[in-house]
Amino acid sequence: MDSAGAVLRAVLDHGPVARSSVARATRLSAASISGVATSLLSRGLIREAPEAAGRPGIGRPTVPLVIDAEAVAVIGVHIAVPHATVALLDLRGRVIEQHREPHAGRDPASVLDRVAERIGRLRRRRRVLGVGVATGGWVDAVTGTVVEHPALGWRDVPVAATLSRATRFPVRVDSNSRALLRAEQLFGAVAGRARQSAVHLFAGNVVDVAFATGGVVHQGPRSAAGAVAHLNVEGCTERCSCGRTGCLQAAVSEQTLVRRSGATDLLALVTAAQEGDARALGLFHERARLVGRAAALLLDLFDPEVLVVAEAGANRVPACLATLRAEVAAWSAAGADVARVVHATSFPTTVLAVAGGAVALDHIYAQPLSPARI
Ligand SMILES: [Zn+2]
Repeated sequence: MDSAGAVLRAVLDHGPVARSSVARATRLSAASISGVATSLLSRGLIREAPEAAGRPGIGRPTVPLVIDAEAVAVIGVHIAVPHATVALLDLRGRVIEQHREPHAGRDPASVLDRVAERIGRLRRRRRVLGVGVATGGWVDAVTGTVVEHPALGWRDVPVAATLSRATRFPVRVDSNSRALLRAEQLFGAVAGRARQSAVHLFAGNVVDVAFATGGVVHQGPRSAAGAVAHLNVEGCTERCSCGRTGCLQAAVSEQTLVRRSGATDLLALVTAAQEGDARALGLFHERARLVGRAAALLLDLFDPEVLVVAEAGANRVPACLATLRAEVAAWSAAGADVARVVHATSFPTTVLAVAGGAVALDHIYAQPLSPARI
């Protein structure tokens, strides 16, 4: 994060906030703050909030600064196994508009063509600073490539280059969990603690993990960190695509859940559980227990301040988070205060859109004034 990033982050965290308070929070000089603020104002990233200013009195009035949630936006793309989500988000990470595009075909060209077409329509709504893409599998954030996504059948797909060529926007790509961990650090319910150390566990059709210490999300020299799809978890009995049984992803993937339930799709199953359907509830709680065992392993391995789980049950089905936490407590040896450490995602109904958007927003908050912003 550069000094402009520090100022923008301070305005996000404390706004409406006086320039003098930004100086204290960032330990930058008043002159630096003034220069940076002018640049951020001219780019539409922040605005002055006269409505929040104190009563006029003696001395120079201080007009507080806030994030400008109206002027500019980013586009967040999430590529899931059955569909893509394309969304417009403001600088506070809030979803302005989102669209779900079922894949006509799963080959990269047809998926990315459709995504580019939707981006073309969304860009008319706001001045767009860039595009972020989140997906599962092995994602190389440095080159913007999906190295391997077995469930989609993708290998070495240059997603950033392809979408950038089609849309003329800068495009960044990252894995589900790394993207969502960044979102938690920027906008999450326990953002302050997540910036100290955090683990994120994503369980959709694919399962992946990210961890961060000192505010930095670990990528690994091959961008391969976080692959837990084939983590062996006691109690998993489904056969996995890798040929073994006991793999976490095979046991808890949404496809497995939907297939077992006989429901048409995950949303129908969530709705049934919310309406009290015993079979649907049973399936979600069983899954929460398996995810909880994996979370317990991660908790013991990393001992993070915060462990965030993005999983449809914990987020939306009554008492599932309690089941998951109880399982973590039963299987973890670290003696952590589970209710304090283990949280469901801060973005329960917009998790896919936020994942994509966070990939772009993270770069804006790191270096907001760099010429190619993301
Ligand atoms: Zn496996």
